[in-house]
Amino acid sequence: DQMQEASRALAAPLFAGLAGDCEISFEFFPPKTEKMEEQLWDSVVTLAPLAPRFVSVTYGAGGTTRERTHNTVARIARETNIPAAAHLTCVEASKGEIADVANAYWDAGVRHIVALRGDPPSSDSKFVAHPDGYASAAELVEGLRKLHPFEISVSAYPETHPEALSAASDIDFLKRKLDSGASRAITQFFFEPETFFRFRDAVAAAGVDAEIVPGIMPVSNFAAITRMSAMTGTAIPVWMAHLFEGLDDHPPARQLVAATVAAEMCRRLYAGGVRDFHFYTLNRAELSYAICHLLGKRPAGAAQEQAA
Ligand code: FAD
Repeated sequence: DQMQEASRALAAPLFAGLAGDCEISFEFFPPKTEKMEEQLWDSVVTLAPLAPRFVSVTYGAGGTTRERTHNTVARIARETNIPAAAHLTCVEASKGEIADVANAYWDAGVRHIVALRGDPPSSDSKFVAHPDGYASAAELVEGLRKLHPFEISVSAYPETHPEALSAASDIDFLKRKLDSGASRAITQFFFEPETFFRFRDAVAAAGVDAEIVPGIMPVSNFAAITRMSAMTGTAIPVWMAHLFEGLDDHPPARQLVAATVAAEMCRRLYAGGVRDFHFYTLNRAELSYAICHLLGKRPAGAAQEQAA
């Protein structure tokens, strides 16, 4: 059975037999400066040969960040052969404005939207729907489906969204988003594989059969991740805090520990049957590249070259 298979896989030599038989995707954020733009582009170029099924670019509230997301996604669509996905939120926008943004993506050849409600620009205020806007991600999905036959991904929360009334009502909302026309959910980051497995079981028990893709956050800056986790409600395991203790002044060692921790989590997810991984790259390629390599991913074409 699945448990036996999982423990056999874990007992095998580290990463032995992982043949890269999984799908990967990478998330980026839109760059604010020319230097950041260069770094983002280096990362895209580094990760592209691993043939991700898509790469996505996040979206913030406000005009200039919207433009940056659009420009980044449009450039990926233009200059690479990787399907590019644009995140889109309901924050501070009317339905008409959202339609304009979505139409511009469609015209730029973008066929995949990650549809979100979004958070208000300042972290101490609550989300309030625009008077002519969408009040939730489910409504946004419905609206987008009416515009174009986009492929749509949505969010999911293994540790429950902080605003949810209960874990069960959070899963009901997820179901609504999928019933409205989304084809997969990508999870918020988490640090214990069991957290994901429990969520996957609860979602399946609620009758959802769509793909739930774990969002993997390779932690290289522990202090920053601790701050982010406080906002997202992600638990930081005691063992993980312990692993990063004393490494503040040792960035290279910290990177190695980061790769080890994230790779081990992916290995355990794989052993539990997971074959899809979404990486929060934070616009840096190396950690995600190393983890994918350990999962057996090789640049497209490398296998044939070896065989020749
Ligand atoms: P929804 O799915 O609409 O709602 C989230 C949860 O809130 C629901 O599951 C439900 O439990 C509860 N809820 C909502 N409405 C109600 C209601 N009326 N009554 C009771 N409960 C309710 N943010 C950005 O700004 N830009 C991004 O690019 C971005 N990308 C993301 C990518 C991923 C993979 C994830 C997981 C999150 C991302 N976020 C992004 C963060 C996201 O915008 C926030 O988590 C936001 O608070 C909720 O958005 P949602 O789409 O999950 O909302």
